[in-house]
Amino acid sequence: MFADRAKIYIRSGKGGDGHASFRRELYVPNGGPDGGDGGRGGDVIFEVDEGLNTLVDYRHKRKYCAKDGEQGGKRRCHGKDAEDIILRVPEGTVIKEASTGKVIADMSGDNRRQIILKGGKGGLGNQHFATATMQVPKYAQPGQPAQELEVLLELKVIADVGLVGFPNVGKSTLLSRVTNANPKIANYHFTTIDPNLGVVDLEGTDGFVIADIPGLIEGASEGVGLGHEFLRHIERTKMMIHVVDAASSEGRDPIEDIYKINAELEAYNPEIAKRPQVIAANKTDLIYSEDEDPVEKIRAEFEPQGIKVFAISGVSGDGIKELLYYVNEQLKTLDQKTIVFEQEYFPEEELIHEDLPYTVDVEDGVYVVEGPKIEKMLGYTNLDSEKGFAFFQKFLKDSGILEDLEKAGIEEGDTVRMYGLQFDYYK
Ligand code: GDP
Ligand code: MG
Repeated sequence: MFADRAKIYIRSGKGGDGHASFRRELYVPNGGPDGGDGGRGGDVIFEVDEGLNTLVDYRHKRKYCAKDGEQGGKRRCHGKDAEDIILRVPEGTVIKEASTGKVIADMSGDNRRQIILKGGKGGLGNQHFATATMQVPKYAQPGQPAQELEVLLELKVIADVGLVGFPNVGKSTLLSRVTNANPKIANYHFTTIDPNLGVVDLEGTDGFVIADIPGLIEGASEGVGLGHEFLRHIERTKMMIHVVDAASSEGRDPIEDIYKINAELEAYNPEIAKRPQVIAANKTDLIYSEDEDPVEKIRAEFEPQGIKVFAISGVSGDGIKELLYYVNEQLKTLDQKTIVFEQEYFPEEELIHEDLPYTVDVEDGVYVVEGPKIEKMLGYTNLDSEKGFAFFQKFLKDSGILEDLEKAGIEEGDTVRMYGLQFDYYK
């Protein structure tokens, strides 16, 4: 129904297995080990594509798997690395883990490209395992397993200003009048389903981006009707133009409407409700009232609360310039940075909780930790990077490995070995 939300399954490639073989040459009866290494599995990478503005492609195809790395071969033959798969998304796409809703990545601002699932490392061939005492190693390392995840993609538009208000108050009309956007305008509810964006070109200013947040209706915060779909888009706007039908052309009470919408915003996310607002008292061309001017009533109600009210007409254009210049001035006082969502879910960290076996043994005074849990962790962690090293330390602690080492009697300065990795133990 909406192209700005999709749930997909992604999987990185498994690393190719290392190969176990022995050199065979004429007149050389016992050749050494010559099994090659496996290739790396493909990563799953997300990339911002400026040319896209919906997630529609991901509603059709829902499974994205990178290829596995090739196995190593005889004669030190290295298996081929698999290609990464790159999933292109519009700027503003937030990637969440589907079952918890936690943010994995926000593809906006400086973040143009992010590896979401790493492919497994290729296993080492038996050529690496020959030692002075073990001349004919039959062991070759298996490739690291793949990672898989179900993710939710949500497009949260990036705009400076959001237009909010009940259906039919004139949001789309205003947007089309002040920007290059071309939204659908009609006199029935739920007209526009996708958010429309436009750039406001104001003489003598840098201009700003404005978004029509359609269909904000009562009960939206409880997910009534299409509410949630729309409220999501408002999360990144810095301020709001609250549009009301000041002429009550459909019999609505504008003051009541403003309170109702604000109550919905508050229920959805109190932080959003606190953002600055300005009221656009629209359809003033339809006001013929001889008694109290409805715009004055709105002013009397909201200006004491610090919310400025502008009388406008989206049809005649009256009052719009003043409104836009005011909004532009307000924006200058607000934080210029795009609101970016922080990462809350780290696919690698799930390893800490994954129930895979490992063993702790002492061999000649060296503490040897091995097993699938360790192999998998080493396959995903780049210990040369600061982040990778911090993850490694957290992994040792949280997975209970440190505790097991201490139970085995480890002391400061003792050596720990995990496959190819060797380090001294310090608390
Ligand atoms: P939205 O649902 O808030 O996006 O409202 P629309 O922009 O689609 O407008 C709903 C109806 O109100 C349309 O028929 C518009 O032509 C009409 N409308 C919008 N603004 C004005 C205005 O300032 N004056 C008058 N007379 N009609 C307006
Ligand atoms: Mg509309």
